[in-house]
Amino acid sequence: MFNRDMQKLGETRSVIREIFEYGNRRKAEIGEENVFDFSIGNPSAPPPAAVTEELLRLLGALPPEKLHGYSSAAGLPEVRAAVASFLRGQYGVPMSEDLVYMTYGAASALSATFSALIAEEGEEIVVPAPFFPEYAVFVRQAGGKLVPVPTDAAFHLDLGAIGGAITPKTKAVLLNSPNNPTGAVYTAQELSALADLLQTCNRGRETPVFLICDEPYRKLCYVEPPVYPMAVYPHTVVCDSFSKSLSLAGERIGYIAVSPQCAGAETLFSAIVGAGRALGYVCAPTLFQRAVAGCLGASCDLAAYRENRDLLYGALCGMGYECVKPEGAFYLFVKSPEPDAAAFCARAREHELLLVPSDSFGIGGYVRISYCVARDVIERSLPAFAALMQTYRT
Ligand code: PLP
Repeated sequence: MFNRDMQKLGETRSVIREIFEYGNRRKAEIGEENVFDFSIGNPSAPPPAAVTEELLRLLGALPPEKLHGYSSAAGLPEVRAAVASFLRGQYGVPMSEDLVYMTYGAASALSATFSALIAEEGEEIVVPAPFFPEYAVFVRQAGGKLVPVPTDAAFHLDLGAIGGAITPKTKAVLLNSPNNPTGAVYTAQELSALADLLQTCNRGRETPVFLICDEPYRKLCYVEPPVYPMAVYPHTVVCDSFSKSLSLAGERIGYIAVSPQCAGAETLFSAIVGAGRALGYVCAPTLFQRAVAGCLGASCDLAAYRENRDLLYGALCGMGYECVKPEGAFYLFVKSPEPDAAAFCARAREHELLLVPSDSFGIGGYVRISYCVARDVIERSLPAFAALMQTYRT
């Protein structure tokens, strides 16, 4: 009677949200301070002062229709121009405002990009695993097929695996750096090597393999900031948002930037506008388009996330947990002490630790810990992590 695929999607809820909601119920039962919820990537750093100041300024300066009315489908012209100018200045890429499309966060940027790129049912999007679980939903909805490929021991790119997965059906390679859930930040050398690989694959193809870069964590980086992908590969589409960098996850604001050097850039951009129309996006929130345009260089305070990373990584390694030190974002990806990560998470729950098993990230045997929480939550959780590890020793 109803759309079966949509019904299934609604009924098989995101594992992350399920654990998060269990955590809320559990907090109501035993007290907030007794539950250590590391499930969801909701930024704990406040938005930078520049955001609040800009919002207040806008509210006082502009009439309601300019704050709360519709904008053009692709966004306010002055906002698109500000984003393009920021990208030109920051990364030295020849970005054009005509190829910037304002979105409801990175999620809708990705959905519109997949819908625009996937021309025929079953075209493939190659993604290094582990990956953000919603990619599978977005790609399937666009009629495509997500093709996960392994990464190396430090969760960096395995170019052999990527090259081996590229077929005539491949439409794009999808990268997320800094990465959710591993915290890996791909190096300039890795990205250049990937660009060379894709250029080699492009020989003899009618359309190139596109590179889609999902970048909501770009400004949350503890190592050398990642190279801007458009600077190394022409056929690039960047999907970005302010959810994490400005701690505005609930405001739903982001953008798509299509490289002017991309094959068929203008046509692809029209297809993105068309996809946004078909998906009913109408336009990105007008007030927040204006607010972020005034804060493009700002980012939330990274110091607290770095302290949390160092504290948690150091303490867990000391207890015998195995993990790779995150280079960015706010997630720690920890090897489960038993092969079944879901069983490990169930055991962790007995210690009131809420962790996410890695299976929906396209890889088994790990858990994701979101450390975007107050520092004292981490401090108070450490005895529980130690007790949990102890259960594997006795
Ligand atoms: N991509 C990745 C890797 C994410 O982790 C998230 C959210 O957690 C998104 C995209 C969606 O971001 P947004 O809230 O901006 O839609």
